[in-house]
Amino acid sequence: SRHAALSKRIGDRLRAGRRFVLVSHIRPDGDAVGSLLGLGLALETAGKEVQMVLADGVPETFLHLEGADRVRQQPQRSAGDEVVIVLDASDLQRIGPALEGFDQPDICIDHHVTNTGFARLNLVEADMPATAAVLARYLPAWGLDITPSVASALLTGILTDTIGFRTTGVRSDLLRMAADLMDRGARLHHLYHRALVARRFEAVRYWGAGLSRLQADGDLVWTTLTLADRRQADYQEDDDADLVNVLSAIEGFRVAMIFVEQPAGRYKISWRTADPQLNVSQVARRFGGGGHAAAAGAERAGDLQTDLPQIVAETKALLGIR
Ligand code: 5GP
Ligand code: MN
Repeated sequence: SRHAALSKRIGDRLRAGRRFVLVSHIRPDGDAVGSLLGLGLALETAGKEVQMVLADGVPETFLHLEGADRVRQQPQRSAGDEVVIVLDASDLQRIGPALEGFDQPDICIDHHVTNTGFARLNLVEADMPATAAVLARYLPAWGLDITPSVASALLTGILTDTIGFRTTGVRSDLLRMAADLMDRGARLHHLYHRALVARRFEAVRYWGAGLSRLQADGDLVWTTLTLADRRQADYQEDDDADLVNVLSAIEGFRVAMIFVEQPAGRYKISWRTADPQLNVSQVARRFGGGGHAAAAGAERAGDLQTDLPQIVAETKALLGIR
């Protein structure tokens, strides 16, 4: 198959390389951090020199993972012979300024249907629920060890992208893969608690601000989070603190959305659906973003309050919902 040949070429490149620069996306989630650390630590165990890069750094939620403290916000250029690998990002804008001055990336490993194929070798498995799962599948074939730290990073990526095995794409083979990662030393209870359950006081207060303005219209439920909410709650990150997962638990709606105001006249939109008939990545793409059928996002310039009614209307029209 195409992927068997591609996997072999990637394996050859990994074996031949000495120095690696690994990068994942801005506003990193558990799969960004988990796939970055999973491949990074596995390459280090194989004796490679590895730089792990996230333009926005590692969010507090994932600092317990081994290697998280060594993730840098920009790479150090050395001889120019680095193998550059982008993880869990569907296009190059998604990684922010992390690879400024570098040539086309050598390898991209991802699971987004919206992946643009921007690297020289693109291993994109859109049927996989997490990039970490793609890595768990291929690392052994590439001769890389799944140590307890690698297993913990990869299981974290799988847990967060499936919201704790709750998304519609979760199949029994994913649970077998997770069980295998547990056998290799990943502690499910601990990783699950850190990534998906434990929340800071400030984050829950920030949720409260968003929940107090909850809106419903037909098949859509949504809310906004403003910079003022963030300040008042003393919430330090620039995301929705996963409030969208709370919105998507509300019964009687087909799509949940959240609008998060950003500095410098920008805002971030997230879409979620549990309806297998709907593909919210199409809507995200229309607004310059991307993602998956069930979870997608976009970041844009403009005034959130002004643009919101139009985005709600277009979301309904594009998805053919009420
Ligand atoms: P979230 O809504 O949690 O930020 O992202 C949901 C999904 O959409 C993730 O898979 C994420 O990678 C993707 N996504 C979110 N924002 C963007 C964006 O601005 N551009 C692209 N291409 N994908 C995005
Ligand atoms: Mn992912």
